[in-house]
Amino acid sequence: MKTLGYAARSATDSLAQIRFDRREPRPDDIVLDVLYCGVCHTDLHIARNHGGYTRYPVVPGHEVIGKVTQVGSGVTRFKVGDTVGVGCMVDSCQHCNPCQQGFEQHCVEGATFTYNGTDRYDQHTTLGGYSKQMVVSEKFILRIPDALDPAGAAPLLCAGITTWEPLKQWQAGPGKHVAVVGLGGLGHMALKLAKALGAQVTLFTRSPDKEEDARRLGADHVVLSTDESQMASVTGIFDLIVDTVPYEHDVNPYLPTLALNGTLVLVGYMGPLNEPVSAGALVFGRKAIAGSFIGGVAATQQMLDFCGEHGIVSDVEVIGIQQINEAYDRLLKSDVKYRFVIDLASLQDDSESV
Ligand code: NAP
Ligand code: ZN
Ligand code: ZN
Repeated sequence: MKTLGYAARSATDSLAQIRFDRREPRPDDIVLDVLYCGVCHTDLHIARNHGGYTRYPVVPGHEVIGKVTQVGSGVTRFKVGDTVGVGCMVDSCQHCNPCQQGFEQHCVEGATFTYNGTDRYDQHTTLGGYSKQMVVSEKFILRIPDALDPAGAAPLLCAGITTWEPLKQWQAGPGKHVAVVGLGGLGHMALKLAKALGAQVTLFTRSPDKEEDARRLGADHVVLSTDESQMASVTGIFDLIVDTVPYEHDVNPYLPTLALNGTLVLVGYMGPLNEPVSAGALVFGRKAIAGSFIGGVAATQQMLDFCGEHGIVSDVEVIGIQQINEAYDRLLKSDVKYRFVIDLASLQDDSESV
């Protein structure tokens, strides 16, 4: 099946239109027209090969809202016309221990990611949601509550679940103090979700001009991380810190702000921590540094249903796909309020560039 998308062809090229083939639908597949696709900082990392493992051309996009246009003969849970979501994964082995427990993202055979992944059946490289159509097994399709605005719901598929997972795992709720580092796409979802779960919420930011927004988004307190006296004022407070910063940074200034048994969970940066961490900073106070990676299908559905009940969507700047390169440049400057979402109606055949 021919479709259109936007692809990076190298780490230095701008994204541009591409025409490519989607696989012919299998019996358990759903075909969908993509309506909206969120722009995650991971899209930028992969388009620009920050991790060194990008296969070009790459069509990014893993925060997808679409309308079902076709269902395979074995599909039971969805029908033509349904509004559905696709997140960061499109397949996994389904039988290993993590898959059986609903942690498909930790599949021991490796989950198949929505783009820059490898299809388990024919080994083609997966291509993501900056495109007109997608073909995805119903096992990895999410139901989108009717109450949610579809553009605002798109970022829930990655930014939402990635922050929901540590909030649930470390039991954010009434009586718990949660802090979030960085007010971008993930950070603003973390504020909204932590607040709705009933926690006391604090934002750590480098950007003084974000304070007002942070309070509107759910923060009870805002701490400027570049101000030593503000940092000292929150010593020993937090049960959980969700750190969304995408690039290398020193985690040491945050450790004294953890309470007894507190945990700092890294979800943003994945490279080496080049600033040494003193074991004593963890030992005295039984503190931990942990990581968390997206979330499984059942947890994603649970998060979406929670958002449906609480009226939670992302704060979005809807863009045409032609603005994607400018959006990446703005993302690097932390200049987005608070997630770009591509309206795929803007993607029209421009045959000169294919
Ligand atoms: P984003 O919208 O660009 O937000 C990142 C925020 O981090 C910025 O708004 C900024 O907030 C803060 N920041 C601190 N130092 C920064 C720096 N040197 N450059 C840019 N921002 C800096 O990014 P995002 O989409 O939320 O993604 C955050 C990270 O999570 C990315 O690395 C992404 O790849 C990763 N991610 C991980 C998972 C997972 O499963 N673990 C899933 C999705 C995304 P302030 O201005 O408030 O300081
Ligand atoms: Zn993402
Ligand atoms: Zn598995």
